[in-house]
Amino acid sequence: MHEMSLCEGILQVIEAEAQKQQFTEVKQVVLDIGVLSGVEISALEFAFEVVMYGSVAEKAILKINEIEAQAWCMSCAETVMINQRYDACPNCESYQLQVSSGDEMKIKELEVN
Ligand SMILES: [Zn+2]
Repeated sequence: MHEMSLCEGILQVIEAEAQKQQFTEVKQVVLDIGVLSGVEISALEFAFEVVMYGSVAEKAILKINEIEAQAWCMSCAETVMINQRYDACPNCESYQLQVSSGDEMKIKELEVN
């Protein structure tokens, strides 16, 4: 499961930070998840609980920022909103779009004790 390995990666980052910053408990984890990342939020929440069990982030609250997808349209020469990676431009129907956001999967914030 994609979400499981994502959470394992997050835990690695948290554990490395815990060593560096010497914290023992994570209170909150805020993630940026783009709508194009293919991550299913409910699966991610489940995987988070499973993976963080027994770690410094066991009691952490998971907050997810869903990032909307945007692309640069070459014909319109402006940024437009899209719903899927291979969508056409909503203004001119062109497929010459360059996705500029929406596929991120990253830790935005760690709140620790
Ligand atoms: Zn356009």
